Amino acid sequence: MYKVFFITFGCKVSQYETELLRSCFSEAGFAPADKSADADVIVVNSCTVTGSGDSKSVYAVRKLRKDVPEAVIVLTGCMPQAAPEAAEKVTEADIVTGTKERAKLPSLVLAALAEKRRIIDIPPLARDDTFEEIAYVPTDSHTRAFVKIQDGCECYCTYCMIPYARGRFRSKPLDDLRREVAMLAAHGRREIVLTGINIAFYGHREGLRLADAVEVCCCTEGIERVRLGSIEPEMMLPDDLDRLAALPQFCPQFHLSLQSGCAATLKRMNRRYTPEEYASLVEQIRSRFPEAAFTTDIMVGFPRETEEEFAESMAFAERIGFSRIHVFQYSPRQGTPAAKMEQIPDAVKHERADRMKALGERLAREYMQGLVGRTVPVLFEREKSPDFHCGHAPDYTLIKISRKNSKKSLRNQIFYVTIEGVGDDCCLGRIASEDGN
Ligand code: SF4
Repeated sequence: MYKVFFITFGCKVSQYETELLRSCFSEAGFAPADKSADADVIVVNSCTVTGSGDSKSVYAVRKLRKDVPEAVIVLTGCMPQAAPEAAEKVTEADIVTGTKERAKLPSLVLAALAEKRRIIDIPPLARDDTFEEIAYVPTDSHTRAFVKIQDGCECYCTYCMIPYARGRFRSKPLDDLRREVAMLAAHGRREIVLTGINIAFYGHREGLRLADAVEVCCCTEGIERVRLGSIEPEMMLPDDLDRLAALPQFCPQFHLSLQSGCAATLKRMNRRYTPEEYASLVEQIRSRFPEAAFTTDIMVGFPRETEEEFAESMAFAERIGFSRIHVFQYSPRQGTPAAKMEQIPDAVKHERADRMKALGERLAREYMQGLVGRTVPVLFEREKSPDFHCGHAPDYTLIKISRKNSKKSLRNQIFYVTIEGVGDDCCLGRIASEDGN
């Protein structure tokens, strides 16, 4: 039996798709390898969101070729789809495929093994592409499951390669979603995170809204929590928020992609909202979900970002009071409009990234300090730490309680926890009761 090992670079969607590939290979009779050195086949699932994502994938393939010379090495995912010619030149890869027709990868590997030939198979994206379903069975025992409901993006932010790697908007049909979530519930999942390339556009071509997908998940027996992955702000309308607010299973954690808090920078990025529109959306959400947490991505060092623009971005982040900020330094992606704009020096980018990260850390601490004294329902997860039971509150704050106070396993159960303090990157608490009293 051939053994297969996976390496993933990039976002939650890539990680989720790697899980689907793992299941496809298992169904096709491959066994999992614990490490690359033991594998007959190594699949490198690439990412192209940043320039470093591309180079990490190529570096990994080249290193694996030297370290595991006999293995069949597969380079797949966004990088080959967005830059097929560059991917083909990575001659250390025996098989190169893109983001389409993933389910046939095991059969391509078997062909490469039998015929000892190199295979390049990157079908181009097409206007009429539909959402690609890959049947899978979970191979782990996690509490939380990611479900990809959407693919593609047509927004063409000036820094981003994703529209070239993923194609047009397309969405998982509601019936398929219903089936997948029921299957996950039957495998013990209690929490669903809806994910995709741009989930705010869920159902864009089918006349559906993101709230339709959330409602399907919330109505599935056994599912107690439903979260959204990263969302673009411009598609969240008051009616959608009303529908979400009516669902007790919906978790009020909003990862609203900001990128910059400066109107001029947003315009150069071709983002489709102003800081004021963003702030107004946050207010609308807070009026329906008073305990909502807001997290975001902020890019620093975008072409021509002045010190004043950066200062505006910092001030805006402080005004919103994010509970977490993922800070990215801009890196030019060949073929995008921003790569042709006037760039700013790396040293300036590093320095701004450090300042934004420091702000994010302070805001996160302040947010968590504000939770002290509250009692919140916590869904406990895998028992990884010898000292703590760990789980998440509805707003996705990580909560830890000492095992000294409660030795039995709490895994996959919800308990109310009173928050007593703040630790590194988490809140510390004690179990109040199973019902919050
Ligand atoms: S919304 Fe912009 S940043 Fe997000 S995937 Fe689409 S083009 Fe890229």
